[in-house]
This record gives sequence, structure tokens and C-alpha cells, in this order.
Amino acid sequence: MSHIVRKPDWAVVDLDTVGGRVFCQQRWQYEWLVVPPARGWTYAERRAFHHALDSQVWGIWSNRILLRTEGTNDFCRTHPTVEVEFDIRWVLSNPHWSVDVRKMPPGSNPTTFISNVEPSKGQIHLDTADLASYRPQNAAGERRTFRALPHEFGHTMENPDEYVARSPHLVDTDSIMNIGRQIRERHVRLLLAELDRMIDHCRFTFGGPAVRRISRGPKVDARSSSSSAASLSPAASKSPPPPDDTADDSRTWFEVKVLDEVGEPVAGLDVTFAVGANAKATTGGNGVARVADVKTSSSFGSMTVTSAARAKEILAPRWTTARDQKLTEGAIVRPVGTSIDSVPVEAEKTIVVHLVPPTQDWIEIEVFDGDDKPIVNQPFLLVLSDGSERRGSTDDVGLIRVTQIPSGPCKVNFPEIEKYAKQ
Ligand SMILES: [Zn+2]
Repeated sequence: MSHIVRKPDWAVVDLDTVGGRVFCQQRWQYEWLVVPPARGWTYAERRAFHHALDSQVWGIWSNRILLRTEGTNDFCRTHPTVEVEFDIRWVLSNPHWSVDVRKMPPGSNPTTFISNVEPSKGQIHLDTADLASYRPQNAAGERRTFRALPHEFGHTMENPDEYVARSPHLVDTDSIMNIGRQIRERHVRLLLAELDRMIDHCRFTFGGPAVRRISRGPKVDARSSSSSAASLSPAASKSPPPPDDTADDSRTWFEVKVLDEVGEPVAGLDVTFAVGANAKATTGGNGVARVADVKTSSSFGSMTVTSAARAKEILAPRWTTARDQKLTEGAIVRPVGTSIDSVPVEAEKTIVVHLVPPTQDWIEIEVFDGDDKPIVNQPFLLVLSDGSERRGSTDDVGLIRVTQIPSGPCKVNFPEIEKYAKQ
């Protein structure tokens, strides 16, 4: 037998007796909640949340500890140590854990809603602001850079908080159940208890941190009945799975939405994604450029505008009239100069990019007539320091406001008034 599997109520624990590895997988069923004014979850957002959560938990918990085997049987002889992978599987039924996730409004931070786990009820309460790292302080006054979700995962193995004054482990600041990132023997005692029931005359003990740092590689379905050698082949490498068993491959997509400084889509722009291999795409009428069916083991990459000159060609005509910029919150802003800096992208997430004129200055002019009355809705021509021109009209209180112009002196003309004056 190559796999021994135990199914306590908190996870599936799978020991690969050939490869000498332990896979501990939890089935999580999400309920997607919204905290106004945040808007409803899109499917892409749900996938992105699960993906980020699974990656963070994997990064802190998997391949970080070594277990030692003690005993007289063959397995102990051939595998004196084993490593452990922890995995969260998004399921639509039969979960180990029911997980509600609050989509938080902009401006929320990890302490806006305090995530928590109720092991006796099999319930976990999370929020999207917890994806960010922050620097909490424990009851001993220590601070560390910390992420909440891998800590909450620790609670699923019945580990209490250690950052509180009543904890005997308060001084162990670097512990994951305190405000650190490290796993201790006490944190995996439930796992050790399950393993100890698997093989006669074989005991598992905590052997300390794993010496190697292993980057995220192939993930193996703990329930897989195939042999570990086959499962660990590069072909089995995949991004975290979509819910249940609907798909099981490493294909994913990346997408950017390119807008100008007033939020209008920039169509017909060639862009290059560096995601695994390079992939080219062109923005459509809605400003969206997408590369689908990308095979990559990483969910992160970058996008560059293929030709800055071409971007300028498309955008410069729009910049001949004065326009007030309306940038989308959270969007990435790139001035269109001789080159355009690349933009970080994430799989299965639409990244909004604003291409704006290369300089950031602005001017405001109030226009009055001889009686100190504002001159409203009056066409103007602004000649900028670089000789380029902007046209527009004074607003209903006689104000001209022009943003995104080159620094330096400029001249304002009122063609209609001058025409009238000349007559
Ligand atoms: Zn906690």
C-alpha cells in the first residue's frame, strides 16, 4: 500500500509510504458575504481570494517542518524523516470547515473585522482585508510583520492564541499562534496523533524546522489514488484548484483594463504579458487585453505596453482639450513618456491601468469681466510651456482648471472675446 489515509473531522491526513511525505488537506466550503459599501463578489474575486489564502497558508505551513520516525518497521528504516504539506481545497459540499468570508470596503485593514475560528462548530470567519500583512503587537509589547490567515489555519488544529497575557507561550513571539511565522511541535500535535495511528511500531515526532526552503511546486491531491511518483511529476504541477473537481489543470488567465486619465478605454493598444512565457495581446473597445489558457506555476507576472510611441500616438489627440482626470481607485497609473513602466499582474484578476499624460502639473484661472462678474462658459485656448495647446470653456463659476500639463509658464487666450473685440 502506498497511501495510508485517516479522516479526522478537521482534515484528511494522507501518508505516502513510498515517497515519505505527509499531505494534510482541509475541505473548505465558503459563504461569500459583503460588507457595504463593498459590492458583490464576482467569481474571479472568489477564485482570487481562495488562491491567495491557499498560497499564504501553504507558504507558512508546507515543507516548513520535519517529522522524525521512530520504530522497528521498514517504513521507519527507509524514511527517518518526512515532510508535511498543508493544503486547502475549495469544495461545494461535504466540507471540514464552513468558512464565511466578508468582502470589506476600501480602507479596511486586518483589524477592521477580527477573523476567528470556532473549532467546536467547524466554522471559520474571515475577511478580505486579512490578505494584507500588518504589524500587530502582542501582550508582551513585541511587534512582528504578520499575516492573519495562516494563523487562523493554526486554530483549525485546536491551537489557542499565544499573543495573549494568559498564554504560557507569550514570550515565543515568532510562533505562528503568537504574532510570528514559525511552527512549533505543539502546533501539529493533532497531526502527530493521527500519524501515530497509521503504522504499527512507528511513532512520529517533531524534528524541527525543515532545513530546505522549497518554493511552491507541484501540489498533490491528498485523496489521489495514484502513486506519489506519478503525482509529483512536473505534469501534475498546477495552480490551486477551482471548486470541487470541475477542472484540474494549470491553465489560467491574466487580464488588464487600460483606461486614459478620464477613465475612457484605450483600444487598439498592443501589450506584452510576462507570465511564464511572453504573451502578446491587444486591447479591445473596452480597453481590456487578456491572455487566456496560460500555462504557469506562478499566479504573478507583469505587463508592459509594447510600444510607448504607439500609446502616445493613440492618446495624444485626447490631450488637446482640457480634461479633469478621474482615476479609478486602486488602479495603477502610468505616465505615457518615451517608455512606460511595467505593471504587476495577478492571475484571474483584472488589473486596471490608467495611462496619463507624462507631466503632472495643473493650472487654475478665474476669469472675471470688468464688473467683477465671472465669465462663464467662455471658450479658451491655453498655450502650454512646451508650445502645445489645450482648449476648453470656463465653467459655470468662471473657472478654468487644466490638469496634467507640463510645468512652466503658459498663456491663456479667449478666441471668442478676441473675435468680438476685433469686430
Ligand atoms: Zn487567533
